[in-house]
Amino acid sequence: MKVLIVEDDPTTSHLMKHVVGQHADYLHAENGQKAYDSFCDALEENDGFDLIFLDIMMPIADGQEVLQAIRDFEEKNGIVQGQGVRVVMTTAIQETTSIYEALASGASEYLTKPIKTEKIVQIIEDAKQKATSHE
Ligand SMILES: [Mg+2]
Repeated sequence: MKVLIVEDDPTTSHLMKHVVGQHADYLHAENGQKAYDSFCDALEENDGFDLIFLDIMMPIADGQEVLQAIRDFEEKNGIVQGQGVRVVMTTAIQETTSIYEALASGASEYLTKPIKTEKIVQIIEDAKQKATSHE
């Protein structure tokens, strides 16, 4: 299980790395550009991520832009819609439009900050089960 944590806030990053690190291998990207580059590199090396926690509010490229770019890259690489990486948006925005936008772009679900540890673990365990049942 390989997880990409995309988060610019140091406090949230620290929490996520701590929790995710107990259950999976992870890479942390602190902005959208790094997140996109890491995602593409991993996919091209045939070692793609199984799960991405993607912050919406970030400098350079926000989570919505990153998600769209990831789906475009997957499509160019022959990954059909619905078979792409599982993406969980994380956001402090309670604004429903941004949540709808993310889900429309192919996010699996979203987490509202402050993020609960148990919820992160539950999502990772769920992703692990789905990964096993696809084998
Ligand atoms: Mg942020």
